[in-house]
Amino acid sequence: MTLLQDDATAAGDKIRCDACPVMCYIKPGARGACDRYANDAGALVRVDPHIILEQALENGDLVVPFGSGTLDWDGNILREPQTFVTAIGAGTTYPDYKPAPFIVASEIDGVDMVTVVTEGIFSYCGVKVKIDTDRHLGPECAAVRVDGEPVGHVTTGEYGSQMLSLGGVHHLTGGSKKEGRVTCDALLTLCNGGAVELTVDGGATVLVQAGRPPIVNGAIEERMRVGCGSATIGMFAKQWHDRVDEVVVVDDHITGVLSEHQAGKLLGIRDTGLKMKGRRSTPGRYFQVAEPGTGWGGTNVADPLQILGPFDPKVARPGLTLLMVSTTGEHAGYYVLDEALRPVEQSMPEDLRRSVSLIQENCEPALCTVLFMGGAGGSLRAGVTENPVRLTRSVKDALTIVTCGGAPTYVWPGGGITFMVDVSRVPPNGFGYVPTPALVAPIEFTLRMSDYEKLGGHMDQVRPLSEFRAPSEHRRQVPHRADNPWPLLADAAKALHR
Ligand code: SF4
Repeated sequence: MTLLQDDATAAGDKIRCDACPVMCYIKPGARGACDRYANDAGALVRVDPHIILEQALENGDLVVPFGSGTLDWDGNILREPQTFVTAIGAGTTYPDYKPAPFIVASEIDGVDMVTVVTEGIFSYCGVKVKIDTDRHLGPECAAVRVDGEPVGHVTTGEYGSQMLSLGGVHHLTGGSKKEGRVTCDALLTLCNGGAVELTVDGGATVLVQAGRPPIVNGAIEERMRVGCGSATIGMFAKQWHDRVDEVVVVDDHITGVLSEHQAGKLLGIRDTGLKMKGRRSTPGRYFQVAEPGTGWGGTNVADPLQILGPFDPKVARPGLTLLMVSTTGEHAGYYVLDEALRPVEQSMPEDLRRSVSLIQENCEPALCTVLFMGGAGGSLRAGVTENPVRLTRSVKDALTIVTCGGAPTYVWPGGGITFMVDVSRVPPNGFGYVPTPALVAPIEFTLRMSDYEKLGGHMDQVRPLSEFRAPSEHRRQVPHRADNPWPLLADAAKALHR
């Protein structure tokens, strides 16, 4: 627990926390409304530890803090610094003009740097969810609900993935109190790596968890499609040449037909007289062969023969062979035309079975990805500098690096400091909430000390990094993720060596 007595004022035996606009009065032994602060025998304390990232050594151990006397130098030069002070558990300031909780000096390659560390309170934030599935989750713009409350909507689908946009100020503050609370809960759970069941109006129910496969209507999605139907024909046409007369790759967006497709033409595959339903776009590429759904290739089709018209008797012949397959290889059927030119399902030959397996093998595992997106271009800038717009300009000019719990962010071009972060790259439980309702997200700004001074930084609040290296019950050292750039070296170096 972190002592924060200075931030609190007493009222009887209660303490008032002023870390956010809620201004809780907290009884002795109790916690505030957000569960992040408590009254410990008259002292305001932070319940969860302040997270400090440590670069792991090659053997996976953490760097031991200086002065511990337990690590002999092995002759290798360790690059400095190995410690990064994140904003997780650092606390917030309210009102905003107060300096950020920690403003930390460090040195990189002989250059004096500063990292301004704060937990931002984001009323304007949400998550973008990418769900690797072809299955139709619901129409674009349809409401997405949790416990019956609208928390977001279906947005434009991407290649092989359905996309949801959840949260945002309209759901957090613009609806009923319950809508705001449920939205905040859902965002917090998703950002901290938990699972949330989402129901789409006129669509599916999907269980979403960052880094895990989606579960659509109770079925685990195993594979992301290899491509659209046309792309699948393009990739695997040679596998089917001389092994089958016709192939249809069923896809809700673009269904491919081998004999008509350019890939089939180049291989000399003859016309088969197959007739597709739907709208022909270009040779061998058909749109709208069925309605969207959770069946074959993201259509509502359970029997693929539904999307075929009668074969042209002038071209087709009895005994003609046909493979129908979905874009993940999850569904496949082999058919032979009878005397009346009707396809009759038969056992699939081994070489065609192998081609279906090859489609499956080329599919990537289906996952859910959750990106937190928030606007840090507002009042929290005042905790960094007395002249907030200079921070925005500094970020835009790549003089200031923005990280979220030490994880790399993408800052949108244009106005403000609107950033996105992959929540799975943020240390566990890096996000919190306040019941205004709003999400609390860690954010760190790292820049040269000289630039910080120029932009009107709170220079009198700068503290040395060494203060954070000593062991403390209020802090927790966690290993830096090897797949994240080290926030004080890799990314900062870009700014240093421009
Ligand atoms: S909600 Fe949390 S941060 Fe806000 S005043 Fe209450 S205890 Fe403090």
